[in-house]
Amino acid sequence: MENKFRFYNTLTRTVETVVPHEDGKIAMYTCGPTVYHFAHIGNLRSYIMEDVLEKSLRFAGYEVKRVMNITDVGHLSSDADTGEDKMLKGAKREHKTVMEIAKFYTDAFFEDCKKLNIKTPDVVEPATNCIPEFIHMIEVLLEKGYAYTAGGNVYFDTSKLKDYYVFSSQSEKELLVGVREDVEEDVNKKNKNDFVLWFTKSKFEDQALKWESPWGVGYPGWHIECSCIGIKHLGEYMDIHCGGVDNIFPHHTNEIAQSESYLGHEWCKYWFHVQHLNDKAGKMSKSKGDFLTVSLLQEKGYDPVVYRMFCLQSHYRKPLEFSYEALDNMSAAYKKLVRKIADLGDEGTVDQEQYDLYREKFQEALCSDLNTSMAITIVYDLLKADMNDKTKRELIREFDQVLSLNLAAAETDGGKDGVDEELERFVLAKIEERKAAKKEKDFAKADAIREELLEKGIVLKDTREGVVWHKA
Ligand code: AMP
Ligand code: ZN
Repeated sequence: MENKFRFYNTLTRTVETVVPHEDGKIAMYTCGPTVYHFAHIGNLRSYIMEDVLEKSLRFAGYEVKRVMNITDVGHLSSDADTGEDKMLKGAKREHKTVMEIAKFYTDAFFEDCKKLNIKTPDVVEPATNCIPEFIHMIEVLLEKGYAYTAGGNVYFDTSKLKDYYVFSSQSEKELLVGVREDVEEDVNKKNKNDFVLWFTKSKFEDQALKWESPWGVGYPGWHIECSCIGIKHLGEYMDIHCGGVDNIFPHHTNEIAQSESYLGHEWCKYWFHVQHLNDKAGKMSKSKGDFLTVSLLQEKGYDPVVYRMFCLQSHYRKPLEFSYEALDNMSAAYKKLVRKIADLGDEGTVDQEQYDLYREKFQEALCSDLNTSMAITIVYDLLKADMNDKTKRELIREFDQVLSLNLAAAETDGGKDGVDEELERFVLAKIEERKAAKKEKDFAKADAIREELLEKGIVLKDTREGVVWHKA
């Protein structure tokens, strides 16, 4: 297969052409959410861009298998094995059990993904499903001399590797090796950046989830879960591993250390990292208390796909600053675009030459380090191009498999001209309310909402792409 997909590989610090281990097939892994709270829209920026990456690879002709873990155990509030247990923190906050918290926020995460048209990965595996696999991997690391026990815990010995700091430049390495003021000292560690594979001496008296192991009752470290779940479902060679930039160190660095020591060879060739979404106060994070969620954007009247478009309009390697003003502008641009598409006719036949030309341009934008804003520009360009409406429609339908902005649904969504924004927000809120009612199986309420809108002259239509509406 012709290799043409290029993106920035954090490991080599260059834009590289992807050459998968198995011709034409991509084994892809995504670090999943830690399910102790709602995902904020910063987390979702990473998942949106990873979704576009997956869909772009498929668009370019690759077969993709994508795996994601769900972190429901082991993630402490500092990525360097210190601080509070995040799941326990969530359980205490809400007076629920850890597993109830995990279930609730896993479901909430996938609900958000659905609203943002993020495809569910082919395999989704909660960490708590894989305890025997973690134990096996740790046993092998101990046997091979890459791990040691101290004070009851099992640690990875970073001094056993030729180059543990694989992602870092010389000056960054010096900083990482130097003393980090922010990290509590763990006297059991032989080297400062050694990390826990298995905790038995939990400092959390009320640790909820624990399992028997050869080293005593305890629970796994966070990093081991991604190594194990990746290898379990994708085999010994992974092509692309994704995450936000905060995962580069220590999480991904530790994943590589464990996996390659366990396997005895290079594990994953390409590393894709998404820069952060910031607000005026800096990086968006769950620990900050007040954070932005998709539901909050909806309550304020925004269509979630407008946020998706906001992300796609900027490059994944650049930090992105969120503001309501920027989202308002995006919302106006999105509505205009959708109306233009809705106005296209559907007669005639597809002009194959033009179709191939624009498909090629679109694919080339995606293949060029995932230039999503260029891909959207191509949609605008084709709307202006001298080409029949049928060809335009077919191209947009095709491109929307990657962009996933409901541009195809918009085709059936005509007749909204003259609808003011206030009414539009009201209708969108009612559609969400009806969706929730249907989910609760409260069909009487769902029907009542449809009737209420009908009385206001708004017709709802349930389509494969979701609910669309128009004026009666
Ligand atoms: P977590 O649920 O904290 O494990 O994070 C889930 C994903 O979101 C990880 O891939 C993080 O790297 C990513 N992430 C965290 N904060 C941000 C942010 N502000 N912007 C973009 N991605 C983020
Ligand atoms: Zn991970």
